[in-house]
Amino acid sequence: MSGLELENISMRFDLPNGSYVQALQDVSLKLEPGQLLSVLGPSGCGKSTLLNIVAGFLAPTGGRISLNGQAVRGPDAERGVVFQKGALFEWMNVRDNVSFGPRMAGQGAAQYGPKVDHLIDTVGLADFREKAIYELSGGMQQRVALARCLANDPDVILMDEPLGALDALTREKMQAMVLNLWKETGKTVILITHSVEEALLLGERLIVMAPRPGRIYREYQLPFADQGV
Ligand code: ADP
Ligand code: ADP
Repeated sequence: MSGLELENISMRFDLPNGSYVQALQDVSLKLEPGQLLSVLGPSGCGKSTLLNIVAGFLAPTGGRISLNGQAVRGPDAERGVVFQKGALFEWMNVRDNVSFGPRMAGQGAAQYGPKVDHLIDTVGLADFREKAIYELSGGMQQRVALARCLANDPDVILMDEPLGALDALTREKMQAMVLNLWKETGKTVILITHSVEEALLLGERLIVMAPRPGRIYREYQLPFADQGV
């Protein structure tokens, strides 16, 4: 069984006052390897909760999730995450940020060096390898976050509004980059976005979620993704 499979995923947050929030209710979803799924929906419909469950950061209170037939039990290198703000090491340079995962996995510089440099080139930061993160613009920081995610060679890339904090022009450039990387690498991608336009532009598939309780409201197959930005 290859791909990502969610079966009746539910998430209930119990609150200290005795009440609870049903953040997700019976979310089922099957993603084939290499698909790009956009997720749209109003604030509070459970998008981030869903992403955190797929990433393994949160254990669902109901249902099952598997990747390539293996149950997902916690975070690991198979699933990479890109957040709205990079969660980067601000005081470290671009190369050290991008190589962080491979280094933690015990690889030596000879092993990860060429791949890391290539990824930095791919996201257009060849001239900025030695720059510290805090010296870079927001768009550049998100490109570092993308490269850092790819350096771990995950099967699935999870993006939680990765372009949400950027200005319109930068966002447009980054959309093209995300689309190209997706086509080149053949990764499975889940992209959470607030932008209908972005969802239509990038997604092969689109789910629209609804709140209280968070669930899949509509699902679409999109014809646009192959036609470029
Ligand atoms: P979205 O990403 O679509 O805005 P979230 O997944 O962040 O939605 O939240 C879904 C619902 O779950 C919201 O009602 C939110 O307040 C609630 N929620 C999320 N995380 C927690 C938590 N750790 N504790 C309690 N409630 C939470
Ligand atoms: P934004 O500043 O809107 O996030 P980009 O990330 O696309 O836009 O950056 C646009 C270009 O501006 C970069 O490719 C780079 O050449 C230049 N640039 C932006 N910030 C810096 C910086 N801190 N140092 C040097 N050049 C920069």
